[in-house]
Amino acid sequence: MNGPITHSITHSITHSITHSITRPIVTRSTPSAQHVDVLIVGAGLSGIGAACHLRRECPDRSFAILEARGATGGTWDQFRYPGIRSDSDMFTLGYSFRPWTGATSIADGSSILSYIRDTAGEYGIDREVRFRHRVVAARWSSATARWTVTAHRADIHDDTDDTDHETVTLTCSFLSVCSGYYRYDQGYRPEFPGEQTFAGTIVHPQHWPADLDFTGKRAVVIGSGATAVTLVPSMADQAAQVTMLQRSPSYVAALPATDPIATRLQRWLPRQAASRAIRWKNVLFSTAINELSRHRPEMLKSMLRRNVVTALPAGYDVDTHFAPTYNPWDQRLCVAPDGDLFRAIRSGTADVVTDQIGEITSSGVALTSGRHLDADIIVAATGLNVLAIGGMALTVDGQQIRLSDTLAYKGMMLSGVPNFAFTVGYTKASWTLRADLVAHYVCRLLRYMADGGYQIATPIAPEMGERELAPLIDLEAGYIRRSIELLPRQGPSPPWRLQQNYLRDRRLMRHGPLTDDVRFGHAGDPPILPRVPVAAGREARS
Ligand SMILES: Cc1cc2nc3c(=O)[nH]c(=O)nc-3n(C[C@H](O)[C@H](O)[C@H](O)COP(=O)(O)OP(=O)(O)OC[C@H]3O[C@@H](n4cnc5c(N)ncnc54)[C@H](O)[C@@H]3O)c2cc1C
Repeated sequence: MNGPITHSITHSITHSITHSITRPIVTRSTPSAQHVDVLIVGAGLSGIGAACHLRRECPDRSFAILEARGATGGTWDQFRYPGIRSDSDMFTLGYSFRPWTGATSIADGSSILSYIRDTAGEYGIDREVRFRHRVVAARWSSATARWTVTAHRADIHDDTDDTDHETVTLTCSFLSVCSGYYRYDQGYRPEFPGEQTFAGTIVHPQHWPADLDFTGKRAVVIGSGATAVTLVPSMADQAAQVTMLQRSPSYVAALPATDPIATRLQRWLPRQAASRAIRWKNVLFSTAINELSRHRPEMLKSMLRRNVVTALPAGYDVDTHFAPTYNPWDQRLCVAPDGDLFRAIRSGTADVVTDQIGEITSSGVALTSGRHLDADIIVAATGLNVLAIGGMALTVDGQQIRLSDTLAYKGMMLSGVPNFAFTVGYTKASWTLRADLVAHYVCRLLRYMADGGYQIATPIAPEMGERELAPLIDLEAGYIRRSIELLPRQGPSPPWRLQQNYLRDRRLMRHGPLTDDVRFGHAGDPPILPRVPVAAGREARS
């Protein structure tokens, strides 16, 4: 991301902090409580958002956040590779209750991190975070209507070493898991044949060495996803040559980093009103694109192709390097802000090679076509390892829960698991649009339970045939396909189906019933034994 853009975002954030605090914030500190009403796992974008919703909508509830790392921000603190930025627009990636008021719609990682931390500070959430607490298990008891949560507390930043920790136990009435969707300790990194012979440096973007100097070096970036598309033009500014080596192409769209309609709205309307209007404009636009990708994929394909053809020199082999075989949005669309990737290709400092790795040699990458790419640095932008609910073990009344044997209720609770919510954002739109809906729904549910004198809420799935079930995340991306067996599944229709459509979800989650397929009860009620709601052809696995 270039300097002036970064500067203007930083300026607008600072401006918004000093000018946008319009409501008094009630803060209740419960730093050492061993029982809380709501326990949130994870202090990333979703966990901080969930806590803010509680402060605003359920100010009488006590809560705490357990965070495995030593810092807030999750993804936006962890990823430090050159050029790290959003690939969806900030007006929808920002929280609904604290609109993004920056000038640009694509923001760099540090601006997003500041936005999350400023939000936490403004709502007094930072005081409720217990750092370096990695939740490893949660046990539900119907007798007490409580979760007993076990965490490992360790004094290292990314706690993955279980040998040196203290075990901490807390109880809570409601467990809200905002742990993201991937492993922090290890990105997905296949071993390349011959890699031990390589004389240069191999890095993974998830663990970027702060002191890696690529000035004047030749780099090969292996991958074609959002990370590779971000890294290549950013490194090309300083490196001698950067090659994006992909097995198969992805869709890449050149979009303006600063949205001209947004700029006009910001000029005409008061700051907050402008942000809300831009948010809605972007929601409607992305919904329309999603619908187009479902119903008229060929039309969208040719629009995307035209976009690339006009951005690259005449005669460039667009069909080999930028025309995927899958339909748009079967995998996440990559964005090139202001066409930065195409600009780097035009200038000659970056290029794209579509080929297969034969082996890594001492001086680079030998391709199966016989070609050799010379490299001083190899970046394995090969993706993430999916990790559902932060890897914690769930038990309900002594019975261990296997996620793939559960069905997701409204994409945020699990069949047979009481007083439990998890946050998975949209994969085809901004994550936060959905995270906000989930957090708001949890508050609605808590208020409904309090009003009705209930202590337990358990989604109970009706029986369904095996063939009606689908993976929770219907994205063709490699990291989702690799982990489908580890994730909950979903049914054929709402409330057991995630819609990937914000407008429909908004109606369901903000205004729809809270009681459909949910059993409400009290502490001491006979336990509802979790079971696989599959009618035939599949037995419960223990
Ligand atoms: C490089 C990158 C770029 C992205 N860009 C976009 C984008 O432009 N738009 C978009 O919509 N989405 C994007 N995403 C998806 C992104 O992850 C979400 O936008 C968002 O940051 C997720 O927030 P989260 O709080 O749910 O999860 P995370 O950011 O992953 O935070 C989860 C937190 O939970 C903690 N945690 C996990 N397990 C445990 C445990 N067992 N105990 C305690 N704490 C735990 C983690 O340490 C972490 O701090 C991107 C993802 C990546 C990796």
